[in-house]
Amino acid sequence: MTKIQAGTEAALTASDSPPVPAIELTGVVKEYLAHGEVVQAVKGVTLAVAEGEFFSLLGPSGCGKTTTMRMIAGFEDPSRGTVRLHGRDVTDVPPNKRDVNMVFQSYALFPHMNVWENVAFGLRRKRVDGAEIKRRVGEMLEIVDLTGRERRRPREMSGGQQQRVALARALVNNPRALLLDEPLGALDLKLRQAMQIELKRIQREVGITFVYVTHDQSEALTMSDRIAVMNDGLVEQLAAPREIYERPATAFVAGFIGTSNLLSGTVDRVVSGCAVLRVGREGRILVAESPRQVGDPIAVTVRPEKITISTEEPAGEVSAVRGTVSEVVYLGLYNSYAVGLADGAEITVFQQNALDSTSTAERGDAVWLSWQSRHSYAIGS
Ligand code: ADP
Ligand code: MG
Repeated sequence: MTKIQAGTEAALTASDSPPVPAIELTGVVKEYLAHGEVVQAVKGVTLAVAEGEFFSLLGPSGCGKTTTMRMIAGFEDPSRGTVRLHGRDVTDVPPNKRDVNMVFQSYALFPHMNVWENVAFGLRRKRVDGAEIKRRVGEMLEIVDLTGRERRRPREMSGGQQQRVALARALVNNPRALLLDEPLGALDLKLRQAMQIELKRIQREVGITFVYVTHDQSEALTMSDRIAVMNDGLVEQLAAPREIYERPATAFVAGFIGTSNLLSGTVDRVVSGCAVLRVGREGRILVAESPRQVGDPIAVTVRPEKITISTEEPAGEVSAVRGTVSEVVYLGLYNSYAVGLADGAEITVFQQNALDSTSTAERGDAVWLSWQSRHSYAIGS
């Protein structure tokens, strides 16, 4: 069925055909031969990055992020699968013929050239007209906030400034996509956080597709439109930051992103689509919109900040479990409680230190923990 929107033919075509992704990986596998054994660095990745998107590959060291990135750039050939850029199959196209640029953690600036020369290098080599080089380099230095520092050498600049130069040098070529492999990894925390905001601003300003590799979950959550969480050569979940955080698809994602509680049990009843697990003699966990049936084993995650801690048994249709406070840690913005359940499970609870905070649970107290059914997420294994 065709939806008529603007009435023009162009509008019809636009709404009929989905936009071509900037980057598309289909069943991409990368195998290396190491000491006579085949190592699968990437075990089958399929994903599409939209034009203009800030897309992150997030995962622990060794999960295959850099290898995936290098296959997009063309520095590695996939053992199987295809790489498409803007709809064109580039699997066999060399890196310099792909319309992407890469920025590394080590800035790889030319030490004997000043900032201006470093940024202008690529354009000069392509024999771009002098006036045009001047205009584009000037414009790019303004975007990365380095106007006035044109004559400095890399060694006369901080790590953050050097990374801006590297960024300007990559962006000045007008690539259709920029690939960044842990570009802030060498910076200290404060500077890294400032650069995260900067990078996001720059990406919005230039409107170029960014693929960002990081092992730092807060970095990915801060900057990305969408995140692919990788583990052991595979994508475990691909979604927007909020979705990844609020609704982790697997136990790995739940554990890797933020702090999460993992509880397991067997479905005891199903009440109007809501699965109810029995926990101990008095406790229950409600899982909203669960397709599970009575007797099904089920693993559930719940985030620490969704849980209320109290000495009274909570009323109403909520998840509620009993436990004993084993640890209280004051963390300024909030308190962190560790609560042990009778079956040995331990639950972490964050309680914000609000103005009227009267919560006084202490070590050794018997408490009730409760949360809404919509904050329990059933996950795969
Ligand atoms: P990440 O960037 O997520 O830390 P990599 O993509 O660098 O991970 O590496 C993924 C896996 O592939 C690791 O186990 C790594 O040791 C292996 N690997 C990467 N490059 C090579 C190579 N050239 N030869 C053999 N093994 C490699
Ligand atoms: Mg890497």
